[in-house]
Order: sequence, then C-alpha cells, then structure tokens
Amino acid sequence: MVTVVGAGFAGVETAWALASRGVSVRLYEMRPVKRTPAHTTDYFAELVCSNSLKSKSPTSPAGQLKAEMNALGSLVLRLAEEHSVPGGEALCVDRDNFGKAVTQAMEEHPLIEVVRDEFTPTMAESCEGPLVLATGPLTSPELSEWLAAKTGRKHLYFYDAVSPTVEASSLDMSVVFAQSRYDKGEGNDYLNCPFNKEEYYAFVEALVSAERAPFHAFEAGGVRGEAELGDYALPEQALLEKIKYFAGCTPIEAIAEKGERSLAFGNFKPIGLTDPRTDRRPYAALQLRPENREKTLYSLVACQNRLRFGEQKRVFQMVPGLQNAEFIRYGVIHRNTYLEAPTALDEQLQLRSAPNVYVAGQLTGVEGYVESAAMGILVGLNIARKLDGQGYVAPPRETAYGALLAHLQDQTEREFAPMNINWGILPDPEEPTRDKGIKRAKKIEAAQSGLSKWLEELA
Ligand SMILES: Cc1cc2nc3c(=O)[nH]c(=O)nc-3n(C[C@H](O)[C@H](O)[C@H](O)COP(=O)(O)OP(=O)(O)OC[C@H]3O[C@@H](n4cnc5c(N)ncnc54)[C@H](O)[C@@H]3O)c2cc1C
Repeated sequence: MVTVVGAGFAGVETAWALASRGVSVRLYEMRPVKRTPAHTTDYFAELVCSNSLKSKSPTSPAGQLKAEMNALGSLVLRLAEEHSVPGGEALCVDRDNFGKAVTQAMEEHPLIEVVRDEFTPTMAESCEGPLVLATGPLTSPELSEWLAAKTGRKHLYFYDAVSPTVEASSLDMSVVFAQSRYDKGEGNDYLNCPFNKEEYYAFVEALVSAERAPFHAFEAGGVRGEAELGDYALPEQALLEKIKYFAGCTPIEAIAEKGERSLAFGNFKPIGLTDPRTDRRPYAALQLRPENREKTLYSLVACQNRLRFGEQKRVFQMVPGLQNAEFIRYGVIHRNTYLEAPTALDEQLQLRSAPNVYVAGQLTGVEGYVESAAMGILVGLNIARKLDGQGYVAPPRETAYGALLAHLQDQTEREFAPMNINWGILPDPEEPTRDKGIKRAKKIEAAQSGLSKWLEELA
C-alpha cells in the first residue's frame, strides 16, 4: 500500500500511475474538511486560477512534455482532452466538468481508497510503506512544519521571491560583458548590463510607474499560514512588510521608489566593474547570474518584483543588452511552498533525509499544473517499478522530463527557484546553430528520440 497525500494535479497522477500498475493506494485529500486559501471546490485537480494547460503544439516544450506524459499514461491529460473548451493552441478545460471527472476516476478505481481528511505529522511518522507528499504550493501548515523539520528548515521555502530569467542566446553580447566584481571568484560567471546615466534614469522612471500585479490577501499568511481576517484588511505596504520578513526581500520597484539613486547604490551598484567598451566603471550595472550548468539561462540579480508580466518585459527590455531578451520566467513574490530540490531530493524525488518519503508536484520545485502533474506520474512510475523489483530508469537529459529533473538536481550555486518547462532548459543541439528556428526544431527532435529510447528502457 502506498500513501499519497494531496489530490491535486500531482497526487491524482501518482495514484493513477500506481493503481494502473496494480499497486494499492490510499489517497488523502483534506478538502472539504479543511480548505486551502486558494481552492474553492471539493474537486480533485482543481485549477485554482487560469483554465489553461498550456500549448498543445507538438513542437513546443509544453507540447513535448504532454507527449511524454501521454506516453506514460497521464490521466489528467486524457480527461482534459475530454473536457476541453476552445482555447486556440492551448489546451483549455471546462474546470468543473474536468474536476468532477478526475474525482470520479479516483473514487471509482478499485485500487484507490480515498480518504477526505487532513494528513498530519503524526500520521506521517506512523506511515508504513512508501509515502508521497503531493500537497502543493499551499501545503497545510502542520505538514509544512513537519517537512521543514525533516529537510532542515532552510531548505523549505514558503514564498517565491524570484527575479526574471532570460535565455542566454537572446542577450546582446556587444553590450553585455562578463566580469565578476573585482574579478573575484573562479572565471567570470556573472554577466553585466552597463547603464549610462540617461539609460539608468529612464529605467528607474519606467520601473516606479509600471503597473503592479494584484495582491492576493492570503499571501500575507506567513509561515504558518495563519492569516487572520484582520490581515486581509492591511494596506499593501503592511502586507509587503510581512512578505519581506518571510521571503527576506523587498521588491525592486519598492526600493526604486525610495529615491532615484537607490538602485545605483544598491541592487545595481557598479563597483568593481569595468565596461570594456569605455574602459570605465558604468553608472550602474544590472548583473546576470547563470541559472544552470550549461549557462543557457541567466537570472537578473536582485530584480524580484511584483509587476505585471507584460510590464516586466517592457521595463526590463530597457536595460542595455536586454532589448531583445526572451523571458522564460517572470519575477514573482507570492506564497508558494517548495523544497530546495538539489539539496533536499534525490533524482527519484525521494527526501535525502528520509528515503521512502517521496515528493511530487509543485513541492519539488517545478511550477504549473502540467509540470506538477508530470512529476506526479514520474513518482508513481518510480515507486511501482521499485515495488516490482525493477531498477530506476532516468529520463534522458534531452527529454522534457530530463530537462525538468536536471533543473531539480543542478547543484550550481544559485538561489533555487521553481521552474516551468521552457526552451531554455532543453539542452542545446550538439552542432551549434545561430538560427533560432533550427535550434528549437533540433531540441524537439532530440527530445522525441530521447522519449523513444526511454520508453524502450522502461518496457
Ligand atoms: C493562487 C494561485 C494561482 C495559480 N495559478 C496558476 C495558473 O494560472 N496556471 C498554472 O499552471 N498554475 C497555477 N498555479 C500553480 C498550480 O496551482 C500548481 O502548479 C498546481 O496546482 C500544483 O499541483 P500540486 O498537485 O503540486 O498541488 P495542488 O494542485 O495545489 O494540490 C495539492 C492538494 O493537497 C491538498 N493538501 C494540502 N495539505 C494537505 C494535507 N495536510 N492533507 C491532505 N491534503 C492536503 C490540497 O487541498 C490540494 O488539493 C497557481 C497557484 C496558486 C496558489
């Protein structure tokens, strides 16, 4: 018997993957006994916000991930297709009918026992057999505490406070230069976007006047998620103070608002840098830090923000060298419980500190409905194989699964941030090409043949 906790996108896929392979599952879901601040129904796999499961195009990263999930027997994608509504290239669903169908599939499967109750630390301690935690970005406070204690407090995050990430190939390298401050550290890992005075003030003006993303009241809930109704009435500034306390950061636009030179003396201080075009220190510099070993992705250092996504693109493209930047992830500061996967999890998504406790879904450090469901299938598959005496078969690096897992296992020193599936994490083709279309086509081709290889090994 395998215990799966959380009947969201990941938990239902884990339960389905196990039950389809003949393994009995006990699936815990705390709703409606106890609710999260974002879910509003009692259905499993509830879409808490948009009703889109991203692109269906087979030549997109999300389409490739779907092809891989379908090949492994995804329940969520089959039911999403059955309950789809028109959405252009995106797979959009009728959320209630989809939720009903997923719930029914779980309740009717003879090998799945559904328990509508909150799973507690006491239950976790006395659980026999494999345990899968798929409790998502709004994991209940008590279980979060238990997980924090198991993994080491500093390896469990309660907030996403991440800067935008861009594709390396979209940077203007005639402007951007590689240099670590005072040339310290091994190699020049950092890239720098140098501002002159005019460029800097134009950027600051655009930043402070840009439109902010709306605030969800529950996001001020803090580590224990104990937001009282009174908290919801706090003005935005007070909510930001709370987030600053828990996430340890202030949004860049709030820093810029304190004075037009505050970034030049803070987040964008140019000391220790020399612009090779002028041989002088720039007026200010935005630094870029590699996000992966292959250096195909860079995050904008200290640019955590709460601007609307469209505004982030407009404003950050004003930074010298980023005028054509392709954003693979925008900055956010919001509630999100997730593990620092490279430290806390092994490649099979088991806790390093407690083998036989697996983690699936957004808790692993992926992001989004589809990515979370994908990790649910993978964990179910890994456990079923293990119980059957079969070995672990890693997805090839070139597959979408391989790309997501590589992010979760990448030990590069960085502020670990959740990741969705995107072009930047799919490895570059062996033969270098500057043509973006050709490069992307080759990435998908490699992922497809990687999938075939993986399926053969799994058979
Ligand atoms: C406000 C908000 C908006 C979002 N918008 C989008 C979006 O537009 N597009 C997108 O792709 N993603 C979005 N996401 C992210 C998306 O919700 C997640 O990626 C996805 O739902 C994660 O799947 P999961 O299975 O890991 O967690 P969930 O789907 O959240 O499932 C976790 C389940 O565990 C249950 N649970 C928690 N603790 C316990 C416990 N102790 N015992 C029993 N059950 C428990 C919860 O009730 C829940 O049903 C959003 C998230 C939030 C919070």
